[in-house]
Amino acid sequence: MNDPAVEIRGVHKLYGALHVLHEVDLTVAPAQVVCLIGPSGSGKSTLLRCINNLEKIQAGTILVDGQLVGYRRSGPDLVETTHRETCRARQHIGMVFQRFNLFHHLTVLQNLIEAPTHVQRVPKGEAIERARTMLARVGLADKQANYPAQLSGGQQQRVAIARALCMRPKLMLFDEPTSALDPELVGEVLDVLRDLADQAMTMLVVTHEIGFARQVADRVVFMDQGRIVEQGTPAQVLDDPRHERTRRFLERVG
Ligand code: ADP
Ligand code: MG
Repeated sequence: MNDPAVEIRGVHKLYGALHVLHEVDLTVAPAQVVCLIGPSGSGKSTLLRCINNLEKIQAGTILVDGQLVGYRRSGPDLVETTHRETCRARQHIGMVFQRFNLFHHLTVLQNLIEAPTHVQRVPKGEAIERARTMLARVGLADKQANYPAQLSGGQQQRVAIARALCMRPKLMLFDEPTSALDPELVGEVLDVLRDLADQAMTMLVVTHEIGFARQVADRVVFMDQGRIVEQGTPAQVLDDPRHERTRRFLERVG
């Protein structure tokens, strides 16, 4: 049996006295696409950030590809990972945010080779090859010499996705990747996500695009007030929700 790509057990996250995640359990199998939906403030971004070890959790465990996130076993104890170990683990996880977060003083190609050459020590020629392959994959082969400001929001977001893919991640985390886009640009970004899903990328996607979740997700997870309220197939959760809170949320966004 393969390890789950992500295994979250009994996770609690607090910001000071604010209890943001309560007893969260979630498993993502390799090549699965899980869409995470829920109202603003329900803890979706926090959960993604915990998986990528951008936030420390206060209880529970998170494993990515069978490896503990943020901690290392030392005999019977768990010790926090060093900054170095954290950075190494993070290389296998690609994250794309609502805002594109490109380096504005660098061209598209320079954006794409930055992390592979500096973090993974990939030779420059090989990094450029990878970058061109990924740009072609997101339909932007002709934009490598452009600066981010010369691209539309949808194109910038596709560059951000290509940049994450250049690190050859095993897992991609998307936090509302289309929420900052003009409506007419949403489709081109969702098409890239759909394509990644078809190519068996493991993905956890926070989204309000219910149509996309219905089409692409293997599983939909509904969160509210820091808890997973229900999860199941898109048909179960989106078309026949068991919980009143899920129903009310879907009426608002649908
Ligand atoms: P969502 O992504 O579902 O909108 P978030 O994970 O961003 O929800 O936020 C969950 C809760 O945690 C909210 O109440 C938010 O205000 C709070 N929160 C998020 N980040 C921080 C932070 N860095 N410090 C303190 N509170 C935070
Ligand atoms: Mg959020």
